Amino acid sequence: MEKMLSVVVSVYNEEAVLEQFYREAERVLRTLSWDYELLFVNDGSMDGSPAILSRLAERDSRVKVVSFSRNFGHEAAMIAGIDHSSGDGIICMDADLQHPPECIPEIIRKFEEGYQVISMVRTKNQSAGLLKNLTSAAFYRLINALSDVHFEPNASDFFAVSRQVAEVLKKNYREHIRFLRGYVQNVGFPHTTISYEARVRAAGHSKYSIRKLFRLSVNTIVCFSNLPLKLGIYAGLMAGLMGLIVLVYTLFTRGGAPSGYATIVVLLCFMFAVLFLIVGIIGEYISILFTELKDRPIYIVEKTENL
Ligand code: UDP
Ligand code: MG
Repeated sequence: MEKMLSVVVSVYNEEAVLEQFYREAERVLRTLSWDYELLFVNDGSMDGSPAILSRLAERDSRVKVVSFSRNFGHEAAMIAGIDHSSGDGIICMDADLQHPPECIPEIIRKFEEGYQVISMVRTKNQSAGLLKNLTSAAFYRLINALSDVHFEPNASDFFAVSRQVAEVLKKNYREHIRFLRGYVQNVGFPHTTISYEARVRAAGHSKYSIRKLFRLSVNTIVCFSNLPLKLGIYAGLMAGLMGLIVLVYTLFTRGGAPSGYATIVVLLCFMFAVLFLIVGIIGEYISILFTELKDRPIYIVEKTENL
């Protein structure tokens, strides 16, 4: 029986590139030995994207569209795509052509060799600035030090999983605060990487601001590591030790403690800074617990086309 490939594409205000993406993706997909579906997840776009997607779906029955009731974010869009896909292999990619469709035949080859998880690693990111590249490297260094799961630096939201892995993601990774590529790299299964050169965005502009990326980084650390929670213990031990040293010093220099207004104020500020920082970290964990506990839907589907 012919195998089927699902290509999941998240779309948020991408009217400028959608048609070009469709043309380029379709050109590659047509040459494959696998049948395919092109599954667009419209993440509450407010521009002309929904209309373009409807038009494409009308013309081409292989184009499927899932539309959210509002913007739920890229991660939610990818998981919705995986939920609605029916292929034996599933590829997640961006709509802006930064993830070149030319890589798809190679992904198919890896699937046929029996790999179940294929992460695409970018060798060069032409569009991201120096700041984004540096902070991204620092982030991966930090998360790998803090967490016992391994994160591939430079892995992107461009990856492919088999049906079996998709079922695992569908059933067992329903966290609300999520970092999909983190799960994908840590479910196990035969795993390989393909490197690719990220292109510049074909048109339109990036939807990820530095602020959003920072939020994503904090969430990822909190979700994948308990170590920050233990900071309080270390800080407490350090403060206790410092206090002890000062105590001994004061007892032995009986000439009386030197007057040190500045010292006291600096010390006080420092200690409170540490204390509040730790309270803040605990707050981050509580906020995630709270979100998970409320168990609101990860996404809400407003309508589907060709599904
Ligand atoms: N995206 C989305 N929902 C969002 C933000 C982005 O579905 O809230 C999609 C966007 O349309 C694109 C992909 O996620 O297909 C990656 O976004 P973008 O290119 O803006 O990020 P960058 O490549 O700059 O990191
Ligand atoms: Mg992009």
